[in-house]
Amino acid sequence: MDPVIHIENISYTYPEAERPALDGVSLDLFPGVFTAVLGANGSGKSTLAKHLNAILVPTAGRVTVDRMDTADEAYLIPIRRRVGMVFQNPDNQIVANVVEDDVAFAPENLGVEPAEIRRRVDAALTQVGMYDFRLHAPHLLSGGQKQRVAIAGVLAMEPEVLVLDEPTAMLDPRGRREVLAAVEGLCRGRGITVVLITHHMDEAARADRVLVMDAGRIAMDGTPREIFPRAEQLRALGLDVPETAALLARLNAAGMHLAADALSPEECADVIKEALCR
Ligand code: ADP
Ligand code: MG
Repeated sequence: MDPVIHIENISYTYPEAERPALDGVSLDLFPGVFTAVLGANGSGKSTLAKHLNAILVPTAGRVTVDRMDTADEAYLIPIRRRVGMVFQNPDNQIVANVVEDDVAFAPENLGVEPAEIRRRVDAALTQVGMYDFRLHAPHLLSGGQKQRVAIAGVLAMEPEVLVLDEPTAMLDPRGRREVLAAVEGLCRGRGITVVLITHHMDEAARADRVLVMDAGRIAMDGTPREIFPRAEQLRALGLDVPETAALLARLNAAGMHLAADALSPEECADVIKEALCR
């Protein structure tokens, strides 16, 4: 299968910066896969995200989206349609005073037919669980609801890839859960390729693939079960270790012999229970 996004040994240095923000990154993103990107502040996550839809083009190397080179301006519009971006602050992404007008904004600008816009707006709001709020004022919604409206606005472009740069960073736990459930549903239910930048381990644990960035490079790349038991390496890269992984590591250090790859409290409880009943 062809990757939807192909990244070939890219580097990127911001104008006037001393050091590159990306330093030799190669990566293939395959259709329908949910990838989480972790990494300490300044490790290059947002810079990488901006290369996925040609907000930035690499200083060296190449990025292609469905084989279209992001450095070729002729492909800018088709690339932006295929790869939608959602940012941290929903207030900066919402432009209209009524939810459904906000979601209609991008397709209207593209000149999509009114009947088709109606269909897309309803579908997008339904997919994020916000259809019942279609006539509400966005500024009266909760953070999680606003962020889901922002996601619907991107979905109305019918993208293949959804890139979310710390979309839950400003949300309370309930808002985080709502947004994550919506994002998971888009990937699992609609086959949308998802790239989720987050610093929440529990969110990354739900992905198919986890990338950990460090100083402009990809330092770790694997499934959550492969990545999360590597507690020392994660700590060295400035990340928290998921509580379940930390607990199992401590029990093993104390002489137990437990499988260390449990991803949730439920799985962790099962591993411990089984060992105690052996
Ligand atoms: P992250 O999203 O992982 O926190 P960024 O991609 O934002 O990391 O930043 C990577 C590096 O690039 C950091 O060293 C940061 O200071 C630098 N950087 C980010 N944005 C700019 C900018 N607009 N101009 C100059 N340097 C920048
Ligand atoms: Mg960032």
